[in-house]
Amino acid sequence: MAPKMTIVNPAHWIEPNGTFPTTPRLRSRAIRIAQCIEYGANLQPGEARPTLLACRYRPNRRACEGFLWVIMQDDDAIQAACPLCGGDEFLIYEWESTPWGSGLAESIDLKSTAARFSAGPPKRTSPITAHEKLEILSERALTLLGSELTVKELHVLIAHAQSPNEVLKRLLAPLEHPPEEATLDRLLGLVLDLWDHARPK
Ligand SMILES: [Zn+2]
Repeated sequence: MAPKMTIVNPAHWIEPNGTFPTTPRLRSRAIRIAQCIEYGANLQPGEARPTLLACRYRPNRRACEGFLWVIMQDDDAIQAACPLCGGDEFLIYEWESTPWGSGLAESIDLKSTAARFSAGPPKRTSPITAHEKLEILSERALTLLGSELTVKELHVLIAHAQSPNEVLKRLLAPLEHPPEEATLDRLLGLVLDLWDHARPK
């Protein structure tokens, strides 16, 4: 019932420099193989690691809800299998010299790369002002909190409140769920910053 496990030599699927095929079906298979290598490369024989790769088998025509585990075999093959339906997907050999043969990629200092991300360091050459930064942080804090207030409404609230404590209480009162402690910490710091910044001296 379960499809046959595929014995994989990555060289048959992926260019030595890590380039994936462009044909959609081949490409998604090859990327999945690379993901299994990345998850499994640092395991010792007899060790396994759960992954976030969703099982693709359909036992009894219903999609399996399991996730693959990677298991290091005694002969250094990486087995990828689903513990829920028992389906075996890959048995991967000769993975050591692929770009994922050491596991997860090393971290990269953003300053040393040309890559730019919208939430990372600002794209503009001029640094953002303290005011702009507070606006951005306010928006994120309100979203994390699940508050329906806009940044503008928050500023109005701060302008009219008697104390930062009152701001916090007004922010938290309408919430359906109490926020996580980390969210609360972030919010507290932000409200104090906004209080210092936005209130007329
Ligand atoms: Zn499964």
